[in-house]
Amino acid sequence: MAKKQFQAESKRLLDLMINSIYTHQEIFLREIISNASDAIDKLAYQALTDENVGLNRSDFAIELSVDEANRSIMVRDNGIGMDQDEMEKNLGTICRSGSLQFKQEMDKGKDADVDIIGQFGVGFYSAFMVADTVTVISRKYGSDEAYMWTSSGADGYTIAKCTKKNVGTDVIMKLKADTEDENYSRFLQSWELQNLIHKYSDYIRYPIKMEVEKTRVKEGTADSEKPEYESYKEIETLNSMVPIWQKAKKDVTEEEYNEFYKEHFFDFEDPVAVIHTSVEGAVSYKALLYIPAKAPYDFYTKEFKKGLQLYSSGVMIMENCADLLPDCFRFVRGVVDSQDLSLNISREMLQHDRQLKFIAQNLEKKIKAELQKLMENDREKYEKFYAGFATQLKYGTLNDYGAKKETMQDLLLYWSSKEEKLVSFKDYTAAMPEEQKYIYYASGETRERLAQLPQMETLKAKGYDVLFMTEEVDGFIPQTLMKYGEKEFRSVTQEDLGLASDEEKKCTEEKTEKAKQTIDFIKETLGERVKEVRLSSNLGSHPVCMVPAEGMTFEMEKYFKRLNPDADMKANRVLELNPDHAVFGKLQIAVAQDQGKAAKLVKILHAQALLMADLPIENAAEYTDLIYELL
Ligand code: ADP
Repeated sequence: MAKKQFQAESKRLLDLMINSIYTHQEIFLREIISNASDAIDKLAYQALTDENVGLNRSDFAIELSVDEANRSIMVRDNGIGMDQDEMEKNLGTICRSGSLQFKQEMDKGKDADVDIIGQFGVGFYSAFMVADTVTVISRKYGSDEAYMWTSSGADGYTIAKCTKKNVGTDVIMKLKADTEDENYSRFLQSWELQNLIHKYSDYIRYPIKMEVEKTRVKEGTADSEKPEYESYKEIETLNSMVPIWQKAKKDVTEEEYNEFYKEHFFDFEDPVAVIHTSVEGAVSYKALLYIPAKAPYDFYTKEFKKGLQLYSSGVMIMENCADLLPDCFRFVRGVVDSQDLSLNISREMLQHDRQLKFIAQNLEKKIKAELQKLMENDREKYEKFYAGFATQLKYGTLNDYGAKKETMQDLLLYWSSKEEKLVSFKDYTAAMPEEQKYIYYASGETRERLAQLPQMETLKAKGYDVLFMTEEVDGFIPQTLMKYGEKEFRSVTQEDLGLASDEEKKCTEEKTEKAKQTIDFIKETLGERVKEVRLSSNLGSHPVCMVPAEGMTFEMEKYFKRLNPDADMKANRVLELNPDHAVFGKLQIAVAQDQGKAAKLVKILHAQALLMADLPIENAAEYTDLIYELL
């Protein structure tokens, strides 16, 4: 029979498995059993609505058996099965999300770190870590035909018609020969298999049955002085079948929580927090939620689907129930199980389901509380999480015109110019000097640039902290929140700092009055290029500064420009001048004595203000010419 070749991607993964020197080869069993369980899930689900299936929930099982003479292990399920096409498609190609992600990680590390095998769901191919030949015999539900898929690894596979009495799939793995370093024969020992099932597959919801050898006292000898023993065989269910979320918290170790997470949600890092909750009442449910440490590679793409797995009395009814999670917490993974939900409820009905809404609202509160707890009790861990999800938390704050801002505002962290570390709004306001009226923030591209803003000097002198906002999305945060507690936000570049006393204000007004001729001259010279020219007492030792007028900030302008380069969206520019700076004095003299020179000075100052604000100068050639001339 002609051998068919594996698809290139699959071949590479397969090579890795075959040549694996990985010590956790044992996870192959977990993978094969999990496939069997998935296949049963599919048929069990169908059985709910289709009487023809003719199987009850209690009829479903996974059988594990060993053929010592042939050095093979078989995993048999009575699940949905595969037809010829599906065998071809499913076993000849990497299709599991986990396998693909695994491969991508491997590609990144270029074979360097074989150790990440086993942290992923690596799927069917993991059988080749321990077996040199794998045979899959399957009969699909609804079909009389069965097929046999066989492969001895990288040289390809064959598919042939065969017979099989019952619907379902047998996976037969012929173990590799033992070597000096590797003892594959241990997988033929029933205690080893029992251990593995207990370790990795205990929660599988269908019984995993195996014939095990036991000993008992021989009949009639129990009472004698020397009782005799005999061995006998008995089918035993190896797994407790209690899903981890159904167990009491005290019966689950941290390691078990983490293992379940990594295997179930294809992550290879432990989560930063686990939420395990059980609610009894009008709506009863159990939930096991995880907060990942890092964003998955596709998190910020359209491919990422938020949602929790939804179970009803232990039967999975939806792989990804989006309605259970608010968008702001779309990174959370987990499982919800409620016996109060009807099993064959449709997706459309779920959307309007009151019980589901109730659960979703409760979970939202739980998640928020958990994140806040983490922030307060383990800032280091929270910051690790925040590094990957800050953008999401910020968008979550803005979504739907700030509908979730109350939930989200306490989860945000910003760089404090004073503390030189990330702080929350709560930290910031708690540390404010009593007389400070506003929460000051500065937005721009980098912290270094913001630290050099003229206004910083003034605020620093007062002992006031300034939050640096350096992400694009940040520009919208203060506008959406407006206030935190009683304190309003104030942009140090955009608004009056609110520091001047009435007397100082009066003084600036007087200066403005006196410098009217100069200010008017600047306005005339710059024309459309600025919306306003004004004097400011906030500039410290700097002569000029460009700030946006109320409304759009410079960061928003850049953001919109990136979204649509052709759109003419511009923040209005305000040129601020420091009346106490020597340069301003020189300018005043020039305006009075030599307006040609004054115009040149104005253009230079304007360009410099733009440069300081990280904005493009309109005419670079003119600017450099002017500087040369000056030199
Ligand atoms: P995954 O299970 O994540 O999809 P695998 O590589 O483990 O990835 O399996 C590939 C596919 O092969 C499965 O998605 C499934 O369609 C099919 N398959 C594997 N084992 C079985 C089985 N025991 N019964 C039915 N189909 C199976």
